[in-house]
Amino acid sequence: MSDLTLDQLRERVRGEIITPDDQQYEEARKVYNAMIDRRPALVVRAADAGDVMAVVDYARENGLDLSVRGGSHSVPGFGTCDDGVVIDLGRMRGVRIDAAKRTARAEGGATWGDFNHATHAFGLATTGGIISTTGIGGLTLGGGIGHLARGFGLSIDNLVSADVVTADGRLLVASETENEDLFWALRGGGGNFGVVTSFEYRLHPLEQVYGGPMFFELGEADTILRFYRDFIASAPEQLGAFPAFQIAPPLPFIPEDRVGDTFIIVVAAWAGPLAEGEKVLKPIHDVAPVVAEFVGPMPYPALNSAFDALVPPGLQHYWKASFGELNDGAIGAHLEYGPRIPTMNSAMHIYPINGAVHRVASDATAFAYRDTSFATVLAGMWPDPADNEANTAWVRDYYAALAPNSESGAYVNFLSGDDQGKIRANYGGNYERLVSIKKQFDPGNLFHLNQNISPEG
Ligand SMILES: Cc1cc2nc3c(=O)[nH]c(=O)nc-3n(C[C@H](O)[C@H](O)[C@H](O)COP(=O)(O)OP(=O)(O)OC[C@H]3O[C@@H](n4cnc5c(N)ncnc54)[C@H](O)[C@@H]3O)c2cc1C
Repeated sequence: MSDLTLDQLRERVRGEIITPDDQQYEEARKVYNAMIDRRPALVVRAADAGDVMAVVDYARENGLDLSVRGGSHSVPGFGTCDDGVVIDLGRMRGVRIDAAKRTARAEGGATWGDFNHATHAFGLATTGGIISTTGIGGLTLGGGIGHLARGFGLSIDNLVSADVVTADGRLLVASETENEDLFWALRGGGGNFGVVTSFEYRLHPLEQVYGGPMFFELGEADTILRFYRDFIASAPEQLGAFPAFQIAPPLPFIPEDRVGDTFIIVVAAWAGPLAEGEKVLKPIHDVAPVVAEFVGPMPYPALNSAFDALVPPGLQHYWKASFGELNDGAIGAHLEYGPRIPTMNSAMHIYPINGAVHRVASDATAFAYRDTSFATVLAGMWPDPADNEANTAWVRDYYAALAPNSESGAYVNFLSGDDQGKIRANYGGNYERLVSIKKQFDPGNLFHLNQNISPEG
């Protein structure tokens, strides 16, 4: 059988096929991180799973690089490539709720904003991230850390099944009872095992959360970080909360003369009974004088989109990350580098890894770091390419200062393109099983534009 030609692909695909000759090409090749400037030969805006199967066949048969794009948020820009093929799932964003079963079936290109909009109408939710424009695809496949993780687990802990187009172009169902190995690998193994055309999630009753950001003076950072470390270890599980360094944006609740100043903040999300929210947050509130806050009851989708305006598409991104304890050494590094955060868009967040996340065994899914306490992300984000050097240096220096107190592996979704050397460490004791599943489902490493698990090991 001869290789699928472009004309034959056009016959098989119902979505849009965009080449460098098309007017939409410049828009179609762009990804969220403006530092990434690649020119694929073909971008296919898939309409359905059939399109995805056709494009996978086309890339494999023609020996072309293949990028998969969901919400486009990958900091290393895995959703695009030079000279290869991009499967853009951005048109496949449907979300269907089964209210009786408390599940949602979402297409692979949906964002958390799409997802929350659909589930909120039924008073239901599950763990997504902090920003609503992030894709459910990439975020879930890497693990999924967000406001609701302490209470409901990671996004992958709520995954019931996935429809996956594998490297041979077949559509398989992966769940606890079908293709169990593949299902295990998808839950943390990133985009290594195929294109997920739809995800089925477990939902939880949740309409409103009680929470929001509290801003404290930088001089309180040591007190806040030490308090937070101890408090979050045993706080009620429906409380999500993370500390961050943040330059105050021009928002109505920030005193005008403090806009542009750097603060240590805590962002809280209480997903338990609303009436208890104020009491549950009181210890955080009382730890030091609050300079500004926007805390109260709000619909969960409002909290999930509250920070979207700080991270519009088109910023430059350079990120690093670590897992570890918030011990004296780590706190020392935060006190030195956190206050030097260079732009309002940038972020340093310390997410708790405990509660429901700890109740799943480290080898129950591919996500290995279940027994650590915190996932730290150093997210350099800035508008002007002229500032590239200063911003990447902040991330690198901060990361190096944290390294002596960090685990060897980190969360795959927070890493940069130059972190491929950490791949084995990111998966710890799960790495060998991932390699053997990769060999079974993608022996030719068609899906290699990701934090790559090579079938060669
Ligand atoms: C502003 C911002 C905020 C973030 N916040 C969080 C957060 O709160 N919590 C968190 O855990 N992470 C967070 N992340 C990291 C995020 O999880 C990763 O960047 C993730 O890869 C984004 O997924 P995406 O679908 O938007 O990206 P894309 O660039 O579209 O995809 C990245 C890669 O994921 C894989 N992929 C995506 N969709 C599919 C699919 N349907 N099938 C198969 N493979 C697929 C592919 O390998 C793809 O190249 C954030 C990132 C950004 C930029």
